[in-house]
Amino acid sequence: MLRETLDPSEAPRAGPPIAAAPETVPQPRPRLGKVFAVSALMVTLPALVYYLWLCIADHDGALFFPASAEDWQTLLYRLPGPTTSAVLVFVGWFLLQALFQIAAPGKIHEGSVLADGLRLKYKMNGWMSFWASLAFIGAVVSLGWLSPTFVYDQFGPLLTTANLFAFAFSLFLYIHGRTPKGDDRITGNFLYDYFMGVRLNPRIGGFDFKFFCESRPGLIGWVVVNFALAAKQYELHAALTTPMLLVLAFHFLYVADYFWHEEAILTTWDIKHERFGWMLCWGDLVWVPFTYSLQAHYLVGHPHELPVWGTIGIVLLNLTGYVLFRGANWQKHRFRKDPEALVWGKKPTSIRTSQGALLLTSGWWGIARHVNYLGDLLMGLAWCLPCLFDHVVPYFYIIYFTILLVHRERRDDAKCRAKYGADWDAYCGKVPWRILPGVY
Ligand code: NDP
Repeated sequence: MLRETLDPSEAPRAGPPIAAAPETVPQPRPRLGKVFAVSALMVTLPALVYYLWLCIADHDGALFFPASAEDWQTLLYRLPGPTTSAVLVFVGWFLLQALFQIAAPGKIHEGSVLADGLRLKYKMNGWMSFWASLAFIGAVVSLGWLSPTFVYDQFGPLLTTANLFAFAFSLFLYIHGRTPKGDDRITGNFLYDYFMGVRLNPRIGGFDFKFFCESRPGLIGWVVVNFALAAKQYELHAALTTPMLLVLAFHFLYVADYFWHEEAILTTWDIKHERFGWMLCWGDLVWVPFTYSLQAHYLVGHPHELPVWGTIGIVLLNLTGYVLFRGANWQKHRFRKDPEALVWGKKPTSIRTSQGALLLTSGWWGIARHVNYLGDLLMGLAWCLPCLFDHVVPYFYIIYFTILLVHRERRDDAKCRAKYGADWDAYCGKVPWRILPGVY
């Protein structure tokens, strides 16, 4: 029965039996340049989030460039410390999400086959946790226990709290990963291991920290941050503008869709290949909620309206992106589960690799090798356009995301070429475009 639901690429390979728990294999020490790069990222990325916030909070959304020593001093004084209420709300939110993950009912799914031949079990209760969280926030706000604009009013202290929490939690993950267990990766360089993570799937009992942080506190938090920003716009201007409603609706759709298809995360790069260290942890807890909400943040102080044709155009762009993104991801997911399932009403075509895995070459996957990224990028653009063109800051998401996905596609391509060799070359011959057919 289990084999029927296996992703064929993940079926345990033929060969000598794999030991139940292989010893941790020490990794070669990273080069100094790599250590320097990860250290620099741990300083510059948090600084960038503060900078973007200050562009909006203090400069009406414009970029600013501190030039004199005095400017830098003013900037340092502007950096907020954590307040008691921000700490209580942030930690309370994290614990609430953990409680939902543990207690809410959900179907059990199995993850990819690990190096030891085993599969981990995951409880898919994100959909329920998402709605329960929104109901909880709705109740807390209606009862007057929390101001609807709390996140806006305490944005700086919340950002500092989230940063401190993510750094501390990453340290916990590093220490947790130091107890040797199969599939860990320790190079012995603290900074590098702290940044990249040591353990692929850190868990206590059945509680999976990576699976949890990938979505629950940050992704649901992003929606809640957006609601608070909309509440602030309403408080300041006695209206919710069309751009704000569009941004709210698009982001809401994206997150709700994620939880509706939550099991699809089990075959993503992050879950299958990335260790859980600062990079993912900080990204999940700080980067996502505090930068993905930039457009809504910007719109608080920019209550402009859009022409009808503009609104329709942006909605159509988002829908096109969504159809591509969801259609492609789901097609691959379904194909990997059932290679006979029809693709666009026809028998799918594919390349069988010498490893046994099938690479789909019809449907969306016959158009470009990562057409799902294209869908994501079109949606990202639709999220920025409602902010119009006065400033570049609300376009930060699409700029960063394009860089991320182009880089990610290159990494994935290298990984697949190393894994599938000549079969991957044959696949690239059949599907020559990487992301955007005819262009790239
Ligand atoms: P994909 O879901 O595209 O997975 C790539 C893997 O799929 C490859 O490594 C390979 O794995 C397998 N594969 C590649 N080609 C084929 C094929 N033709 N047929 C069958 N299997 C194939 O990548 P990601 O995990 O990076 O992205 C998933 C989604 O998440 C994307 O839509 C992306 O845009 C989105 N995303 C969103 C982010 C955000 O912050 N909003 C961040 C990152 C991603 P195998 O080894 O199994 O063969």
